[in-house]
Amino acid sequence: RRAALAETATLPPMTADGVRVSVLMNAGLAADLAQLDSCGAEGIGLFRTEIAWLARGGLPDPDAEEAFYARVVEAAGARPVLFRTIDLGGDKLLPGFPHGEEENPALGWRSLRIGLDRPAMLRRQLRALLRATAGRTLRVMFPMVTTVEEFRAAKAILRAETAQLRRAGRAPEQVLVGAMLEVPALVWQLPALLDEADFLSIGSNDLTQFLFAADRGNPRLAGRYDFLSAPVLDLLAEVAAAAAAASVPLSLCGEAASRPLEALAVLGVGIRAVSMPASAVPAVKAMVRGLDLGAFTRFLAGLRRSAHGGRSLRAEIAAWARDH
Ligand code: PEP
Ligand code: MG
Repeated sequence: RRAALAETATLPPMTADGVRVSVLMNAGLAADLAQLDSCGAEGIGLFRTEIAWLARGGLPDPDAEEAFYARVVEAAGARPVLFRTIDLGGDKLLPGFPHGEEENPALGWRSLRIGLDRPAMLRRQLRALLRATAGRTLRVMFPMVTTVEEFRAAKAILRAETAQLRRAGRAPEQVLVGAMLEVPALVWQLPALLDEADFLSIGSNDLTQFLFAADRGNPRLAGRYDFLSAPVLDLLAEVAAAAAAASVPLSLCGEAASRPLEALAVLGVGIRAVSMPASAVPAVKAMVRGLDLGAFTRFLAGLRRSAHGGRSLRAEIAAWARDH
């Protein structure tokens, strides 16, 4: 089985009925880069920049940070890398950083909220990313965007930094900017967001946590709500349809994509790019290559249409996967 998965790694992620999808890997450390070649991912769909900051235990030196990002794009070569700006706060606390005491850290001063309140820090990171990708394409996305106005404010900072580096002749050839969709409120701002974004990436960990109001790390709640249920799948289908209608590339990069059954459902609601830990790539690619996506999409649409409330549809989806 291992040999079969290794062979799949070299083949394109095309479904059995000829739909080309994209299977990408998540990364954050230099050590992850070696797996880019071996696992068969087509690029990095989520580069969690805060991981290196947390591993270091403090704010990075700007030159070292630029060199690190340059190493990442060098290793990726022609493959795309979606850099995410620092996603601190919540359960990711940086030593020495004034995170403060919070009653609900997951709902607190996190991610882009910190970046917008500490623009000098965000600007420094964006400058390192822009410099590291000079002459190439920079793909950068902001985490935990809650309002379109926040996304516009972050883009304005990026634009100002880009303009400055362009004058100095050190800017990327192209800058693509995306938003992570992790906060349900953003779903009802999609028309305005899709006007502003070059791409979107769904963070299924936080999106599911906020959708069910259930702490993603609390083991007591782990079995209570399922990603494979109508509330999540209907929401994803709505986002996928809106992004496709606006021709804005959409991917899903939370842990959900790392399990073949969940990845199957993500494809079944119309999402065509998934990013996951490198270790999950071979099995998901194998699932993709054996999949009749047209047939599964019809099955899933029927399942979602019949009234199931919020209960898990895992058994039905697993049965379909087993039979096909
Ligand atoms: C997510 O929330 O799904 C996500 C990718 O971000 P993180 O897991 O780093 O919070
Ligand atoms: Mg998240």
